[in-house]
Amino acid sequence: MYSYSDLEKDRIELFSLGYKEEEIGKTVYARRISAFARGEGAKALIVGATHAREHITAKLVVDLAKLYKGDKIAFIPMLNPDGVELVIKGVESAPIEYRERIVRLAPNGDFTLWKANGRGVDINVNYDAGWGRGRTNLFYENYQNYVGEGPESEPETRSSVDYVLKKGIKVLVSYHAKGEVIYWSYEGRGNRKKAKALAQTTGYDLSYAYQSHGGFKDWFLKKGLGDAFTVEVGQDRFDHPYPYTEYGDILSQNVGVLDKIEEFLDDY
Ligand SMILES: [Zn+2]
Repeated sequence: MYSYSDLEKDRIELFSLGYKEEEIGKTVYARRISAFARGEGAKALIVGATHAREHITAKLVVDLAKLYKGDKIAFIPMLNPDGVELVIKGVESAPIEYRERIVRLAPNGDFTLWKANGRGVDINVNYDAGWGRGRTNLFYENYQNYVGEGPESEPETRSSVDYVLKKGIKVLVSYHAKGEVIYWSYEGRGNRKKAKALAQTTGYDLSYAYQSHGGFKDWFLKKGLGDAFTVEVGQDRFDHPYPYTEYGDILSQNVGVLDKIEEFLDDY
């Protein structure tokens, strides 16, 4: 399973491939949140591991970065390292002062299905886009679906928002698992033609997330910043965390996304 320590090791390889690391913020537990890009001119962003149990998407984003040759795409492989470490390493990965509080939030004290960040906020319902209006939103700390005290209350959310605005990012791909579907619209905004191009290269279906709000893609589209897509990798028949034995398929389905993003950037 792809942990924060794996990412720390892979940084060295990314450096050797010409990437520079930028610390875009710190998590609740003070871990580094990193973006990798060549040069300073990246205008597209690929994000992984927003949801803790979907850590296979961090591996995917790192491998896409390794395969990418250009300088137009930036990569945030692991937006939620605190959550990923909880899923993979358990409660001992959290600072002592948080342990009692979060172990009560995990079903039966087990972190296998944890989606949230280090204090029980689901980052992908914490963005400022219809905040708190989602059908499955919760208003108390939990291992999933808690929207937080307010829009962008979490450091992971703010780090990603600040990075997008600072860099002037025009195309966003946010990786999640699972379902092999692409969500591409929010409240009437979104580019269906480009979504279809992504569907064609990945083999995934297009879908609508009705009554879903507060996601990174939702915020990006609502702000009118450009094109944004939530790509759900992996088949629904497998359980979380998604089995790494199936990883080869996920990587091969998504390699073409790099070229598509470069094409999308031609519009800006
Ligand atoms: Zn997710």
